[in-house]
Amino acid sequence: MIDPVSALSNVLGVKGWLSGGDVEPYRWDWLRRYGAVPLGVARPANTQEVARVVEICREAGVAVVPQGGNTGLCGGAVAHETGAVILSLSRMAAMEKPDLASGSIVVEAGVVLATLHEALEPHGLIFPMHLGAEGSARIGGLIGTNAGGSHALRYGMMQDLVLGLEVVLADGTVWNGLRSVQKDNAGYQLRKLFCGSEGTLGIVTRAVLKLFPAPKQRTTALLTFADCGAAVSFGTYLRGEAGEFLSGLEFFSDFGLKLVLKHMADLSFPLETRGGVHLLAELASSSARVPLDDILNAALEWGMERELVIDGALAMSDAQRAHFWHLREEQPEGQRLEGQQLKHDISVPPGKIAEFIEAGEAACSKILPGVRINPFGHLGDGNIHYNLSPPKGQSDFADKALELGQALASLATGMGGSFAAEHGLGRSKIVLADTNRSPEERNLMAVIKDALDPSGVMNPGVMISSVRQRKTFQ
Ligand SMILES: Cc1cc2nc3c(=O)[nH]c(=O)nc-3n(C[C@H](O)[C@H](O)[C@H](O)COP(=O)(O)OP(=O)(O)OC[C@H]3O[C@@H](n4cnc5c(N)ncnc54)[C@H](O)[C@@H]3O)c2cc1C
Repeated sequence: MIDPVSALSNVLGVKGWLSGGDVEPYRWDWLRRYGAVPLGVARPANTQEVARVVEICREAGVAVVPQGGNTGLCGGAVAHETGAVILSLSRMAAMEKPDLASGSIVVEAGVVLATLHEALEPHGLIFPMHLGAEGSARIGGLIGTNAGGSHALRYGMMQDLVLGLEVVLADGTVWNGLRSVQKDNAGYQLRKLFCGSEGTLGIVTRAVLKLFPAPKQRTTALLTFADCGAAVSFGTYLRGEAGEFLSGLEFFSDFGLKLVLKHMADLSFPLETRGGVHLLAELASSSARVPLDDILNAALEWGMERELVIDGALAMSDAQRAHFWHLREEQPEGQRLEGQQLKHDISVPPGKIAEFIEAGEAACSKILPGVRINPFGHLGDGNIHYNLSPPKGQSDFADKALELGQALASLATGMGGSFAAEHGLGRSKIVLADTNRSPEERNLMAVIKDALDPSGVMNPGVMISSVRQRKTFQ
């Protein structure tokens, strides 16, 4: 039997193999719910080393947990039980020059999203994935979770932005699918299979990403509405008027705003009036000729005439635009600073957002009277972060977590939506998947998992419960 520690330290050297106290920075997930002691942390420098790590772990029967920026919110990037190897892609952060004619770039999986944004700026190009964790999240992790973010309504999710992939498979072989074309129907869409697979099928080592011309102009408005129904009506109208120029349509509640203003002294709310729901709408174009201000102003007039929009302001400078976005992006942090919370990542068809929020409030208040609800997120694509704080004066409500989660999941599923919109299942949502997805759907997933990872070493306990075999799903 192979000794994995000496084999891995021989292959990776001192820079590439961490053990003992050195594993601490990699050990806990972002929300600090999971953090079994790993056997060690492998930090390979290239694809060949990743393949060797996987081969050694498979031979030794040791689980491999790929880790990017470790900002995932479902506990998928850390060890499930003592003795797994965390495989950090942090040393694989090289980028090729962007291919200007094709609008693409080849990057290693460890590239940090914000670093990619900066590198593209001088070329007049963008990679249009934006999220609050972009200073830490890495390309491999974004692909692993099929991240969505605030521009998904215009550009799609990660699976829509990946043209090609290189993946180390569970047997240590390397699949090179680094093609740079949009049209490639030569068989199953393998690259999409790995988008959102959370490290359970293979390890993404490189990717070809789709790029877009940088906007030459933007116009951003912060608006306030009496309630979510009014915001949804306005959002529907704006989508019709602004079409392909609409690049952001984000909402947050007045409760969420209160938390942000309470805990972050540098933020203020610029409007005189405050309704129950606030909306950030942004239009962008890579042409300077499109009259974005006119489109947005006409829509605002329409909304005010119908008394949907109570108050609003257009950003008059880049600093003001950044301030508007901060109010939205600091929603998770504002609630974290308030104390314990339960996070839910729901999606419903966009026209049903208001209905979901109302029904969700009724369901949650029945289970836990006084529970404080902070819905915010991506109005344009129907993705609601339906996060809960305990009733005032109560610090702990973990005993109600499962019941609340189940109620919201079945409500979303019943409306044709999902209980795991953009963060994935990780470890924390397996129970919800077991109860809210049909046996046929779970069987299909288990068949794929069995076929690609027959020895079960790739991130066990994530996405598909490791103790459940395909047969038990009947
Ligand atoms: C403040 C904040 C805001 C956020 N906002 C959003 C948002 O708007 N939209 C959104 O979608 N998410 C959001 N997230 C969640 C998180 O940032 C995303 O899920 C992100 O994609 C995770 O990237 P990461 O590099 O940190 O991945 P990690 O957390 O390291 O890993 C996530 C999963 O991918 C797997 N993985 C990592 N690297 C690889 C690889 N190379 N190959 C295969 N699998 C791999 C891991 O095993 C794990 O299962 C937010 C998180 C925070 C903390």
